[in-house]
Amino acid sequence: MIEKRQFYINGQWVDPQQAQDHPVIDPSTEDACAVISLGSDADADAAVAAARAALPGWMATPAADRIALVEKLIDIYKTRGEDLAQAMSAEMGAPIDMARTQQVGAGIFHLKNFIRAAKAFQFEKPLGDHAPNDMLIHEAVGVAALITPWNWPMNQITLKVGAAAIAGCTMVLKPSEESPLDAMIFAEMMDEAGFPAGVFNLVNGDGVGVGSRLSGHPDVDMVSFTGSTRAGTLISKNAADTLKKVHLELGGKGANVIFDDADEKAVKRGVLHMMNNTGQSCNAPSRMLVQRGVYDKAVATAAEVAGKIAVGNAHDEGRHIGPVVNEVQWNKIQALIQVGIDEGARLVAGGTGRPDGLNRGFYVKPTVFGDVNNDMRVAREEIFGPVLVIIPFDTEEDAVAIANDTPYGLTNYVQTGDGARANRMARALRSGMVEMNGQGRSAGAPFGGMKQSGNGREGGSWGIDDFLEVKAIGGWTVE
Ligand code: NAD
Repeated sequence: MIEKRQFYINGQWVDPQQAQDHPVIDPSTEDACAVISLGSDADADAAVAAARAALPGWMATPAADRIALVEKLIDIYKTRGEDLAQAMSAEMGAPIDMARTQQVGAGIFHLKNFIRAAKAFQFEKPLGDHAPNDMLIHEAVGVAALITPWNWPMNQITLKVGAAAIAGCTMVLKPSEESPLDAMIFAEMMDEAGFPAGVFNLVNGDGVGVGSRLSGHPDVDMVSFTGSTRAGTLISKNAADTLKKVHLELGGKGANVIFDDADEKAVKRGVLHMMNNTGQSCNAPSRMLVQRGVYDKAVATAAEVAGKIAVGNAHDEGRHIGPVVNEVQWNKIQALIQVGIDEGARLVAGGTGRPDGLNRGFYVKPTVFGDVNNDMRVAREEIFGPVLVIIPFDTEEDAVAIANDTPYGLTNYVQTGDGARANRMARALRSGMVEMNGQGRSAGAPFGGMKQSGNGREGGSWGIDDFLEVKAIGGWTVE
């Protein structure tokens, strides 16, 4: 059993001020794989104090030196990939091969994009030719609390820490209590890279404890949060008294609009994308909208593809999907599958209960519902498991209306052979991101949502910008 009870505060691994053990459960086996501590207010306060004390020095450090430390972090990250993959596989159930490639790979990808963006970033620039004595200075927001989820843990941590560090913010990371192990390895990497004491701090804890302490803390200038819309609302309310900046990356219920002229692989691609990471992605294409002419065929294909997806232990190599993260999620997903059946959706793959042969572990059958309408709960709520709903539509206007009829607005997807229609759709969809015909967004593209999917953007120059204030100066002496 791994014992990792300490926190990383002011450049040291320190004991919690009050013991509060918390088991980390391996969702493949339902057994504890590690024990950590949940922090108290006093631990959160100590970390904030360390970050506050380190802020002036870190802000005064030239951007080039901050960037160089993040470059060093990338070199170290490359040597710890297997440790990170094993940790994520055990704590949140990412199948080990997928953890090695996608989960670990996401971190390197974001850090490298930040380096590219940072080298081109103008931290100081004149307002314009019309105003020779006006200068704009981009400077750190200050002490940032970084609160991250368990589903793509290293993705989220690097998106926040990389950007905050380059911007000159000091920080306190509170990773999800479901996935603390990869975060603690990351803290070891920050230490090895040589970030000055107090620039980066890590305190484990739960949302009501350390999470709330940080979001309401008077010495925290900004909260950057990724997680559920529910927690995003609570954090925003708690942060309001101190009027701190709140950046939110929340849930989604993305539409994947498949027109009758879509390419042959569109349905299969959509199902596999939905089921990746066992359906636990905020940007999953969870509502497949299919034009009536190809609807029946699409439902049959989706059922066939889902039926062939293997489910298995996250520690086994291979291309299966793993369990969902924990018992609470397993129960929630089971209940929603039953809701779909009770609402009259047509179950064409999967269903309730564990897949055959898996009696222990939080395994869910890859599930597909046909004949869904957008008012059903399975079409409205983020299920966060391997459950796809398929909704028919007739015209382009219908598709836009259905796709936009959701409280969320993170990523939508479009599949059509008609380029002009694809572009019209991209303009009409109310979401922070649109991906078309299987083409993802490229390196450095901003990630984030509209509506109840959040505010602000992560990644590349937008991500750095989010941790900066712009200071407008008149009367600047041109030297
Ligand atoms: P969650 O909201 O339960 O927890 C996320 C983090 O917030 C954890 O660290 C948790 O301890 C903390 N937290 C919970 N309540 C809090 C509170 N009241 N105050 C402060 N902190 C609190 O979410 P989760 O179950 O870990 O993650 C799944 C959710 O995250 C899904 O809804 C998913 O869509 C969303 N998500 C969004 C993105 C994105 O970028 N938009 C990315 C990944 C996940």
